[in-house]
Amino acid sequence: MELKLYNTLTREKQVFTPIDPDNVRMYVCGPTVYDYAHIGNARPIIVFDVLFRLLRHIYGPEHVTYARNITDVDDKINARAREEGVPISDVTARTTKQFLEDIAALGVLPPTVEPTATGHIAEMIEMIKMLIANGHAYEADGHVLFNTPSMKDYGQLSRRSLDEMIAGARVDVASYKKDETDFVLWKPSDADTPGWDSPWGRGRPGWHIECSAMSWKHLGEVFDIHGGGIDLQFPHHENEIAQSRCAFGHKVMANVWMHNGFLQVEGQKMSKSLGNFITINELLEKWPGEVLRFNMLRTHYRQPIDWTEKSVQESWDILEGWYAKASPAGAGPNLTGEVLEALLDDMNTPKAIAALHQMDDAERASNLAALGFAGDLTDPRAGDVDEAKIEAAIARRLEAFKAKDFAEADRIRDELTAQGIQLRDSKDSETGERVTTWELKR
Ligand code: AMP
Ligand code: ZN
Repeated sequence: MELKLYNTLTREKQVFTPIDPDNVRMYVCGPTVYDYAHIGNARPIIVFDVLFRLLRHIYGPEHVTYARNITDVDDKINARAREEGVPISDVTARTTKQFLEDIAALGVLPPTVEPTATGHIAEMIEMIKMLIANGHAYEADGHVLFNTPSMKDYGQLSRRSLDEMIAGARVDVASYKKDETDFVLWKPSDADTPGWDSPWGRGRPGWHIECSAMSWKHLGEVFDIHGGGIDLQFPHHENEIAQSRCAFGHKVMANVWMHNGFLQVEGQKMSKSLGNFITINELLEKWPGEVLRFNMLRTHYRQPIDWTEKSVQESWDILEGWYAKASPAGAGPNLTGEVLEALLDDMNTPKAIAALHQMDDAERASNLAALGFAGDLTDPRAGDVDEAKIEAAIARRLEAFKAKDFAEADRIRDELTAQGIQLRDSKDSETGERVTTWELKR
């Protein structure tokens, strides 16, 4: 079985050859835990879960190590804790728990290891010491900075010009920096900010060194695959590479770098100010998790995805049709035929889905099970709906029609619509009387 993956490092689709087929190692940048994860954050989680499943299929489940971290040291977390007036650990514990619950509902397997930044401060300090010792980092004004000109081929991943890098680094042109593109490995913490003792005083790590240290601890100095969203390519991944390569002296940090495209909502960039910022949690109140998972996979992971209500509804309809014929719940999970072939070609999930349409019911169910579909389309809101109350309201509306009180009839309909209940009126073919049915509107 030959797996091909697109490598951002070489800008080419390449045959994947693991360093050690007995232990294939993948690292993916996980969430910064200060708020509910949004549907964009779900994309790398789902995409790399499919890759994890595919690697397990090829090399055997016990021969794949997948590390996905939790970033629980970050200034956004500190700011949130200050806003709420609660300890930082409250924010991180609550958000981490919520994140894990949300993504479990999306059919995502737990990774092999889930390291936290706070659990790896010692490794970060050790790496920073190595970088100072070999001339790639320096201490200035209580900070430790990575000196980018010290690395001859800095910028290998993003292939940016120096000007772009300066813009991308969003430089607070601090006077203590030797070069504008130098970045922080360690910074001082005041009494109100979390900090750890270090040779450079009480402080906290920069974001990039966190992932270098965690991947080193769990996957070694060089590993197979490193993934994340396209926005992380620069500066985050570029700087992870700089740190790890300069600390350990290897040509690469990871052999293959993979980046998922961005997700937008109804044709627009998702943002709090546009009011189109949707959390996974909110969507799960409306849709079964596997519908969201399926909808994500209908687009190739490297393409941008436009997330729309319409496409989610279509995803629901497709799964409902398939499950009615053969449910993945009872099927032995297996990847076969053209589905497997499509996945081996740089995880071409839209092509795999086209192949699923062509497969016979039993084989499709088995492939769906292997892709993380459980066959459960239970309406998440079904428990909240009081059917007797709806029926009673419909009866009152029919009475209103009979009494020609159309205003009242409309009022009742509007009230139900506001609760997400859609009415359909028709005429009984024999009696000619109005018949009203209802369904949950999405
Ligand atoms: P963050 O918590 O912002 O560091 O993001 C966690 C992960 O979600 C990273 O891999 C990001 O690249 C990814 N991500 C964030 N926003 C989006 C989006 N709109 N579309 C796709 N991926 C995203
Ligand atoms: Zn990272």
